[in-house]
Amino acid sequence: MKLIMFGTREDEKEAALSWAEKNNVEVTFNPGPLTLENVHLLAEYDGLSTSQTAPFEDDIYEQIAAQGIKQVAQRSAGFDMFNLEKATAHNLIISNVPSYSPNAIAEYAVTAAMNIIRNTEKIQNKVKQHDFTWNKSIISKEMRSMTVAIIGTGRIGTIAAQIFNGFGAEVIGYDLYPNEKAKAFLTYTDSLEEAIEKADLISIHMPLTKENTYMFDKSLFAKMKDGVFIVNTARGKIVNTKDLLDALNSGKVAAAALDTYENEAPYFPKDFSDKSVEDDVLLELIQREDVLISQHIAFYTETAVMNLVEGGLDSAKQVIETGSCDNRVN
Ligand code: NAD
Repeated sequence: MKLIMFGTREDEKEAALSWAEKNNVEVTFNPGPLTLENVHLLAEYDGLSTSQTAPFEDDIYEQIAAQGIKQVAQRSAGFDMFNLEKATAHNLIISNVPSYSPNAIAEYAVTAAMNIIRNTEKIQNKVKQHDFTWNKSIISKEMRSMTVAIIGTGRIGTIAAQIFNGFGAEVIGYDLYPNEKAKAFLTYTDSLEEAIEKADLISIHMPLTKENTYMFDKSLFAKMKDGVFIVNTARGKIVNTKDLLDALNSGKVAAAALDTYENEAPYFPKDFSDKSVEDDVLLELIQREDVLISQHIAFYTETAVMNLVEGGLDSAKQVIETGSCDNRVN
């Protein structure tokens, strides 16, 4: 069997080579995404894995199928970059890796929360200017004195709740479908509003859906406590960024940690150090001391990368051998 891995990063190769040896499969690496320009490469392979961040081109499904390929195994939990109807119409099985290390994202969310609560960036900026004074702009709260609301209490939200709970915070949570496991670490509220109104810190852990697109907007910020902290490691479009900036400017939100940004696709995870960033909102988020923004990196641990590579290649192999796979999403 011959597989090709598109969008391969250097850090994925070790796990892929060891999977290839163990499974007696030939795996070829391609650093770029799968596009209409390179889709012809598939003619030499039995299957593929992708690491798409931007949406697939609409005409590509037909081209993939025309090369005799039966599947696309995405190496991420998210699969919003695919047009599932088009894929199904061309008999392509799309798969994801639904859970590769919820701890990775939960730990990052708590790390980011601690950074904004403790004013780490402001403190470092002062120290770099050799201003070693203590003053009110950098005094901080303690987690144990805070109420933390977890919005979305699935795999990641439950672990985040467990860690916040370990710090001594009072953890509350809201989910459309409360789960028993989370109840060990948080108390459910009856509504989103109740959680939002009580929280000193809100950590978002739900998938992006039609219902929650821009859910965190002007009207929801208005219901929050003054000086609330917001952490979003879920999806950028859950938060209306312009409304968030207004809420930061008015002091309603004390600080925000964003690992995702609604218009991140052109930039994350690419190197723009010698190119100009044209997005004024992103530039403002980057330069603000009350915003900690990162390049959708919460998942990025050694364990998660290994599980993603193995999960993607397993699915590709399973479809080729059996005609379907456990992690099929269409
Ligand atoms: P999950 O499916 O285990 O849990 C999501 C929870 O959100 C579910 O319990 C669901 O009922 C709840 N939910 C859905 N819509 C809701 C709504 N409108 N209101 C309240 N609750 C709602 O998913 P997970 O594995 O915990 O992942 C959560 C999200 O984290 C993913 O969907 C993804 O967007 C994000 N994520 C980010 C990174 C990163 O690197 N930043 C990596 C992986 C996942």
